[in-house]
Amino acid sequence: MPALEIAEKLTILADAAKYDASCSSSGVKKRDSRDGKGIGSTLGGGGICHAYAPDGRCISLLKVLLTNSCIFDCHYCINRKSSNVRRARFTAKEVVDLTLDFYRRNYIEGLFLSSGIIRTPDYTMEQIVEVARSLREDHDFRGYIHLKTIPDADPMLVEAAGRHADRVSINVELPTASGLLRLAPEKSQARIEGAMGTMRSAIEDGADARKRFRSAPAFAPAGQSTQMIVGADAATDRDIVTRAASLYDKFDLKRVYYSAFSPIPDASTVLPLRRPPLMREHRLYQSDWLIRFYQYSPQEVSAAADPATGMLPLDIDPKLAWALQFRDRFPIDVNRAPREMLLRIPGLGIKAVEAILAARRWRTLRLDDVARMTVSVKKLRPFIVTTDWRPTGLLDRADLRPLVTPRATQLELFAA
Ligand code: SF4
Repeated sequence: MPALEIAEKLTILADAAKYDASCSSSGVKKRDSRDGKGIGSTLGGGGICHAYAPDGRCISLLKVLLTNSCIFDCHYCINRKSSNVRRARFTAKEVVDLTLDFYRRNYIEGLFLSSGIIRTPDYTMEQIVEVARSLREDHDFRGYIHLKTIPDADPMLVEAAGRHADRVSINVELPTASGLLRLAPEKSQARIEGAMGTMRSAIEDGADARKRFRSAPAFAPAGQSTQMIVGADAATDRDIVTRAASLYDKFDLKRVYYSAFSPIPDASTVLPLRRPPLMREHRLYQSDWLIRFYQYSPQEVSAAADPATGMLPLDIDPKLAWALQFRDRFPIDVNRAPREMLLRIPGLGIKAVEAILAARRWRTLRLDDVARMTVSVKKLRPFIVTTDWRPTGLLDRADLRPLVTPRATQLELFAA
């Protein structure tokens, strides 16, 4: 196949893959040097995106679809059957060759492969698995592979994906079953969860086998993840937090990705016309961190949401919102409180908490000591006690919220 055709397909299929948030470095200002001025780009070129490996390294991935043709008609998807986009399709061999080519040129360290559904879910899944199989078995490819799997495919094929991939993911797409029914009527929450359950068992069996036999093959060692679209249906932040927590619990997910719905060209009329604020996606990621790393229960995070609307505040982070709601749990004495209580103090991250725990073994901490371990002590002061500081009356002030709310920063006029 002539190089131009491959390049053209890559342009179409890498662009079509950009709506998948599972491996994106979002929130970055868009800059590039295609006009010949300057050097470098934050947009990634030719389908290259960045993801974090399980050991925390940032790795570059070729992020591409096998095809953007699809027999399904999910309303929120630019690749849906009724969409008027230009279609393209790679063969499995073309994706293998591209991956190896990019890898040899040092452009990438791995592959993120997804696909629209062509012919049948089984046929599509076979093609996806063939790419990973060929890379691993025919070419001894040792780079990172993340495969999107199709929940309606034969479980044997979904399992085969796990044998070759580092990470597999199955998108739940929408936070509620009713949203899924309305916007992706050909998909079913039961089938999606069934496939995630099968994957969980296979990953656990694989890990077990590796404990018993060192020679047992690895099975999706980086686990499974999923993605939820935010703002395309009426689900509230409380619904999303609750759903994400139950998914982590049921399927032992490594990550839930939240993707703020963005209106697509030629959009279906059942979709909202406007995207939700990007800050909403950010607040959901912060909530996710509170549950995964700060020992908050999903109910506690939900309690930070507005009781009437079920939405998290956009102007303050959910940890601060929770602290303002439950002022009776504060102030916390940084010289005595256990780790889990220190983690509740707004403005104190995990590193700062570890630093406090280490420092207080040798001396009692003053407000200045804590200030040196954090970005800004202003947000903390109402919530902590040190040897020389006690927030007398501050916690009970009616205007506490504006006092600790960070100053709004002007958004870029032309930011997307
Ligand atoms: S199945 Fe996937 S690719 Fe096809 S329309 Fe639905 S979301 Fe898009």
